[in-house]
Amino acid sequence: MCLSLQPGTLARLSEMLGEAGGEVWAALLIDASGRQSLASLPNLSARTDAFIVSRAGWQLVRTHAADRRLRIAALVHSHPRGTGLSRADRKGLERSTLPWIIVAAGPGGIDYAVHAPPPS
Ligand SMILES: [Zn+2]
Repeated sequence: MCLSLQPGTLARLSEMLGEAGGEVWAALLIDASGRQSLASLPNLSARTDAFIVSRAGWQLVRTHAADRRLRIAALVHSHPRGTGLSRADRKGLERSTLPWIIVAAGPGGIDYAVHAPPPS
């Protein structure tokens, strides 16, 4: 499946990047009609170049999605620049069953790349 971010999702990410001033982490949710939304995940790490999501934080997103009959389609996070995977991202993606989308603010708006998880 080819995953692309809808204009509304890109606009929301742009807003979130402006608010966060650091790294944005969110789950990309899709409803039955294909409409995307984002649920942000709080970062427990004090570092801006690292991310720790708590079990509780992740559970909140799963409940939010289940209540609204949304599918968790991908994990989205931002980089200060570039949309490639970092070494830590690579390790995380190896253990993931979801695609990871890396976003970065570019001159023409939000750039992003979809990284597929390893085949299971
Ligand atoms: Zn990263």
